[in-house]
Amino acid sequence: MAKRDYYEVLGVERNASETEIKKAYRKLARQYHPDVNPGDKTAEERFKEINEAYEVLSDPDKRARYDQFGHAGTDPNGFGGFGGFGGAGDFTGFGDIFDMFFGGAAQRANRGPQVGSDLRLDLELTFEEAAFGVEKDIELPRLENCPTCEGTGAKPGTRPAACPKCQGTGQVRYTQKTMLGHFQTIKTCPECGGEGKVITTPCPECHGKGKIRKTRKLHIKIPAGVDTGSRIRLAGEGEAGLRGGPPGDLYVYIEVRPHKIFERHGDDIYLEMPITFVQAALGDEIKVPTLEGKAALRIPEGTQTGTVFRLRGQGIPHLKGSGRGDQHVKVVVVTPTKLSEEQKKLLRDFAKVSGEENYRPQEKGKEKGIFERLWDSLKG
Ligand SMILES: [Zn+2]
Ligand SMILES: [Zn+2]
Repeated sequence: MAKRDYYEVLGVERNASETEIKKAYRKLARQYHPDVNPGDKTAEERFKEINEAYEVLSDPDKRARYDQFGHAGTDPNGFGGFGGFGGAGDFTGFGDIFDMFFGGAAQRANRGPQVGSDLRLDLELTFEEAAFGVEKDIELPRLENCPTCEGTGAKPGTRPAACPKCQGTGQVRYTQKTMLGHFQTIKTCPECGGEGKVITTPCPECHGKGKIRKTRKLHIKIPAGVDTGSRIRLAGEGEAGLRGGPPGDLYVYIEVRPHKIFERHGDDIYLEMPITFVQAALGDEIKVPTLEGKAALRIPEGTQTGTVFRLRGQGIPHLKGSGRGDQHVKVVVVTPTKLSEEQKKLLRDFAKVSGEENYRPQEKGKEKGIFERLWDSLKG
């Protein structure tokens, strides 16, 4: 039996759009569905024919081959495995059956260009490098297209052959028996992985893979203000794409090493600075370390331990926008140990001169603070 032209079967023009083809198919499939025409052999044949035509014309690759070679260009078995439909059974509506057809079509292997994989690089920075930015030269192994075969995997001068299992279509069909009858599912060809081609003479450099692992030197600029968890994207520095697709991206994940004396919270930095009780009592101008060296800090007379002073703009530069965080300096009054006899004598004299009452710690600016109440409770 001579096969009819697929476009004629669906009643569409040769230049019909995908939507037009789909619409025509749905209409005809409803009309000739075996459930609507029980026992009608002609309708059943027609239904098979419609499905076969749609199967080819809905697939751009198959349609192109059909346009060029006619029926010979598509699967020689056609839609032959599509068995007759059983009785009405538990068939609940057209939705089910259309889902099965369209679901099958959606499984089509992706044979077009494909973006390469993204790569991740973990980069450890010092506290200062993260604060002020740094430029790094790194070496990164990644997959690139083999220069000998230009990514085809075939030895130069040879060409990949059409896969014998799928005849170059990249897909194979399986007939599935269900309560509704036999259905065909289309799967990616396991032989060629959907490529439709097999390499008969592999490229000697990449052994047919089309890709080689190469170490690439990269110059990375890390902006000032990054922190642990910051991510920098280098577009196009990932692995090579497939079938002419663009390469993936490289993501650099930042990990900042802790500092010996500073602690970072956001863009502010924190420092604990020890001072003597004499400095705390009399006041002093001290030097404190900063990210860029040192700064002068005035300790006012009568400073309590734990007081926090702020050095504005001495913190981490903001990653976004201008300006910087602050540096917070918490002073800790250190009680002296290992006093000499002379020092001890001076302190005893100090206590005597102060008078027992007046030597009690006073809460600054308060008539009767918590300390006063505490001493009062011990009276009598
Ligand atoms: Zn090669
Ligand atoms: Zn194959």
